Amino acid sequence: METSARNAPWEKLLDGRFDSTHPGRTLWRLFDDQRGKVFAAVTLYIIKQTPASLLPLAVGMIVDALTTGGAGALRRILWIAGGYFLLLLQNPFVHTSFVRLMSGSLRHMQFNLRSALIERLQQLSIAFYEEKQSSALQTKILRDVDAIDGLCRHLMHTGLNGLLVITYVTIIALVKQPLLALYFLVTVPAGVALLKLFDRRFKAQYQAMRIETEQMNARVGEMLQMLPVTRAHGLESIETRDVRSVFERIRDRGMQVDTLTEFFASSSWFTFMLFQLACLVFSAWLVVHHRISVGDAVMYHTYFGMLIGAVQQFLSVFPALAQGADAVHSLGEVLEAEPVERNEGKPLAPVPLRGEIVFENVDFSYPRGREVALREISLHIKPGETVAFVGESGAGKSTLVNLAIGFRQPAAGRVLLDGCDLRELDLRSYRRQIGVVPQTTLLFDGTLRENVTYGLDTIADDALWKILADANLAEFVHRLPRGLDTPLGESGAQLSGGQRQRLAIARALVRNPRLVILDEATSALDTESERLVQAALVRLTQGRTTLIVAHRFSTIRHAQRIVVLHGGKIVETGTQDELMARQGQFYQLAQLQSGHGPAGSGGPPERVVQ
Ligand code: ADP
Repeated sequence: METSARNAPWEKLLDGRFDSTHPGRTLWRLFDDQRGKVFAAVTLYIIKQTPASLLPLAVGMIVDALTTGGAGALRRILWIAGGYFLLLLQNPFVHTSFVRLMSGSLRHMQFNLRSALIERLQQLSIAFYEEKQSSALQTKILRDVDAIDGLCRHLMHTGLNGLLVITYVTIIALVKQPLLALYFLVTVPAGVALLKLFDRRFKAQYQAMRIETEQMNARVGEMLQMLPVTRAHGLESIETRDVRSVFERIRDRGMQVDTLTEFFASSSWFTFMLFQLACLVFSAWLVVHHRISVGDAVMYHTYFGMLIGAVQQFLSVFPALAQGADAVHSLGEVLEAEPVERNEGKPLAPVPLRGEIVFENVDFSYPRGREVALREISLHIKPGETVAFVGESGAGKSTLVNLAIGFRQPAAGRVLLDGCDLRELDLRSYRRQIGVVPQTTLLFDGTLRENVTYGLDTIADDALWKILADANLAEFVHRLPRGLDTPLGESGAQLSGGQRQRLAIARALVRNPRLVILDEATSALDTESERLVQAALVRLTQGRTTLIVAHRFSTIRHAQRIVVLHGGKIVETGTQDELMARQGQFYQLAQLQSGHGPAGSGGPPERVVQ
């Protein structure tokens, strides 16, 4: 069943209904659209539990019938058994309906929560992801949602049963012997006192455990990603030792958590067994003094045993409660995170864009950066112009390009697109008209066609072949056994560096963008691959505004203008010939990288910058 995203239940979780400072309230709100089902499930639970709840009452009545004896005793017992049989009869049906309702509402809650998480993850600004490792985020979507589900299940089974028994016992005791009701009531404060004693320690341990699990997942993810590098350098033993130390921390923490949970359980067991012993003595005293019958004493004792079991069950919910509260807190890191990119209600970018980009006195620094990353950048990029940015590593090239995509907002000054401040625009509508060719081509586990047309509706084969030809990829695809429908495997492992770049170019071309952002790959290609990539790039950039973070002469040559950055500032602009003639920064960079400069490193002559 597909629900429209607007006004969907999970949308509400993103509009302040999720409040990690109040986990209890938040849990309740998770079932906002399931209230009816939850209430029906609780009602069915009460009905299905009646045979179990009334068993001590029946036993007490039978014992009384036996002790009083007489001719009618057997008949009375048969009546009680018959009534009890009727109560039993409903149980299998009601239980099944209860499970269906409960499971339905829980599954729906999981679905809403996960939908809310992915919705928010798609809204958060790029800066958010730089601080969080993707495996840690994955842990939240999988493990923490499961923890909340586990807690709710626990509450609905154990918690509800505990509550039910406490209520029954209190009512029956009040009706039959008020003195005993008072006695029962001491157990509850004792339970609360125990909880208070353990409360803070539980919370601290569960939080520590969660954070360590997130770190473990992140570390394992990293290990898998680094595997080829690790193996290539023979660092297996160092890497495994390192990851093992993370496992050791988890093991030790897990043992601490288990010990605490068990210590808590045994403390509560010990306390309540003492209570039970006292109850036995007390009810025996009442029987001896003819205040109650033997049947009543048996009944009280059984109820008291049940009550203690219920209070203990209730207490056993507590560790899950602490864990669930921590999971709510953890999900809050995503669901309540700022900064969210706010696009709703903003005007859409014009279609098609003219493609003019203006930087007006732009300053930018990273929240955690020590220095200013960009300073007083003023630049006018005309529609259709190709501008290459060069400069040493850390000069600010990528930052500048990210500002042009709207991934980051300037601290001072403005970035204008066709005369509109990017901050005032619905950035999604703008980005749909951009083609981005990043430094590393990210591919997913799908066919070549799916990877090229990613996110777009089906494209006719003819049009796709034309695009592949423009990207200099057609010949290669023709040679593939299954052509366009060849599976690329995870991360496109079968493609060479040059093929990947051309695939990224095809992916940009297919969007027929007005603006192209190209972060050139730094890894060197062989001459033939380089020629194919460059020819594809020429076709991609033709007639489109293009911003290139350039590393090679062959790419820079296509640019109508070169902007040289140094320490976050623009130090030179001009064509390649002008800049070479000026013998300034660009000239020095070119000399340095081609191995002719004073600090000639002998790097590949085609490379001009890092
Ligand atoms: P380039 O692309 O020219 O190599 P960048 O734009 O990546 O340079 O970086 C410009 C400056 O900003 C550098 O000093 C770099 O250390 C800093 N920087 C880049 N990204 C971040 C970040 N996410 N957090 C903090 N500082 C950053």
